Amino acid sequence: MSAEPTDGVHGARVAVLGLGHMGLPMAQRLDAAGAEVVTYDVVREARVTAAAAGLRVAADGPAAAGEADVVLTMFPEGRHVLEAYRGGLLSAAPTHTLFVDCSTIAVDDARAAHALARASGHRFIDAPVSGGVVGAENGTLAFMVGGAEEDVARARPLLEVMGRRIVHCGGPGLGQAAKVCNNMILGVTQIAVAEAFVLGERLGLTHQALFEVASNASGQCWALTTNCPVPGPVPTSPANHDYAPGFAGALMAKDLGLAVRAIERTGVGARMGLAARDIYKEFAQGEGAGQDFSGIIHDVRARSSAARDAHAEEGT
Ligand code: NAD
Repeated sequence: MSAEPTDGVHGARVAVLGLGHMGLPMAQRLDAAGAEVVTYDVVREARVTAAAAGLRVAADGPAAAGEADVVLTMFPEGRHVLEAYRGGLLSAAPTHTLFVDCSTIAVDDARAAHALARASGHRFIDAPVSGGVVGAENGTLAFMVGGAEEDVARARPLLEVMGRRIVHCGGPGLGQAAKVCNNMILGVTQIAVAEAFVLGERLGLTHQALFEVASNASGQCWALTTNCPVPGPVPTSPANHDYAPGFAGALMAKDLGLAVRAIERTGVGARMGLAARDIYKEFAQGEGAGQDFSGIIHDVRARSSAARDAHAEEGT
């Protein structure tokens, strides 16, 4: 018999489904904090890893949901969430279960998940994260949350075990809306910073000189001062470690795809967002998929050389 939760964590029965890069360390943190965690992943290897880490693994997703008060999902895409909800999670869970989807998915899909959960007598919040694997391991994720106040309040103690910053952004889907808007800023600014460094190189400016000026001037942004795309000025940036992620190009391409879906649905004239989607889509079709997204600077250089060669040929 489980202990009555007193602080919203100890004894809380939490199913964590999706034990990939993010879900596994999130489950481990909840377990270590005293929640009664039960896990599941469709991939056998992930289940074996979870069991080896001391986590309890259910026979399948619905079995895990059937014995939980809170069902946390951390899946790759919206279709996985909706398929799993329709495919047995919602029907197996006791009425009034709180579904917390932490996957990064489209705003529309989050709203569809919310409607499905409600129709089955459950509660739902969308709670996508930023902070990556390191944030998941250290409990320093940022959660962007959409849903009803009382549901967010119920989830908050659990989210605080996994994250440092929990922002309630509004009603259903608005956590995903905040995530997609933030990552559109990030994608666009990372490209702008990379282009500025390549332009500086062509003009004879050292990386350090450009960094010192821009990081103390109006060009200052995270893409420059934390994720600097050239080695040197910020020793901890992925550029100093062969562009090992960090935040992989494939994930940025995915998030910008979600941004464009929202742009098209709302009719916003977001030319930079559309361009960033195209640029990262191309990047992620090659080696960029597994590199940090600041590696986009390689594509900028490659495009620049091609442009210069074409120009030189025209002149001959
Ligand atoms: P991942 O591919 O490593 O893990 C996802 C896991 O979900 C896989 O193990 C997969 O087998 C499992 N899964 C899929 N369908 C399932 C189902 N029906 N039941 C049980 N398990 C199922 O992905 P990840 O890197 O952990 O990312 C998860 C989500 O978090 C994605 O939406 C991603 O965009 C988002 N995110 C990732 C990062 C990051 O740095 N990795 C950062 C922020 C947000």
